[in-house]
Amino acid sequence: MSIYSYRHVISNERTCYWMLHHLRWPKKVSCPRCQSTTSWTMRDQGRPKYRCKNCRYHYSLLTGTELHGTRLPLTKWVLAAALFSHGISSMGLSREIEVSQRIAWKMLQKFRAAIQSSQILRKLRGSVEVDETYIGGRTKGKRGRGAGHKAIVIGFRTRTGKVRSMVVESIKTKQMQKLLKQQVAQGARLYTDEYSIYHPVRKWGFKHRRIKHSKWFVRGQTHTQGIEGYWGHLKPTLVGRHRSVSPKHLPGYLAEADVKHNLGLDTDFTDLILRCLLSK
Ligand SMILES: [Zn+2]
Repeated sequence: MSIYSYRHVISNERTCYWMLHHLRWPKKVSCPRCQSTTSWTMRDQGRPKYRCKNCRYHYSLLTGTELHGTRLPLTKWVLAAALFSHGISSMGLSREIEVSQRIAWKMLQKFRAAIQSSQILRKLRGSVEVDETYIGGRTKGKRGRGAGHKAIVIGFRTRTGKVRSMVVESIKTKQMQKLLKQQVAQGARLYTDEYSIYHPVRKWGFKHRRIKHSKWFVRGQTHTQGIEGYWGHLKPTLVGRHRSVSPKHLPGYLAEADVKHNLGLDTDFTDLILRCLLSK
């Protein structure tokens, strides 16, 4: 959806409030502590506050969400989410919604954290390409495996096009085994290159096809071009939009890129971000 389509919502605080209310509780208000849907309603400066009839907990729209305790108007949050969904830097956001760059940066971090924690981590199945890459750092010259000061990122891509990428501290066989067990269902067919960390994957319960990059890159279905293509698209996006991405924040940026990629351009991403913010 375009930012223009949010113009009515962001024109006033009350409309924003009720839109978010509907996103959090499409049917009935429910207690964040015990999930009971019976409550007393009280008013506080026009906004309802609820008291759970089951556990007596007091709560309101933002209780227990990422937006709890925010001093910014909700209109700014919704506009920021819409801008974020189209890709924006903290500098750009600070100009558009008239907050300091520090606050804009914190808002973007909140969006990324919300997406990361809400990602449904179902294990990947079927045919899965696995590859690693190196992102960030300022070391010139050294490239590829063993390049210093860069974050190591492991990526998975199913042949249906879903991607998942994550930062790892080091690249060792033991760590690879743990990661694969977390992310990929047993019996899946893995496509990797000849790197030694992938050698024991059959022992770990996966089928395995190896690409001999020294001889050929594609042989029938045996290739890792999907995930390599994703890296090719990801890196310029990260470098182009944000001057530098610190390793500490890289997981958030990766989650943002993965979700955007997996959902495709047609999905209403703003809506999704707001849901993530409210679903804590
Ligand atoms: Zn309750």
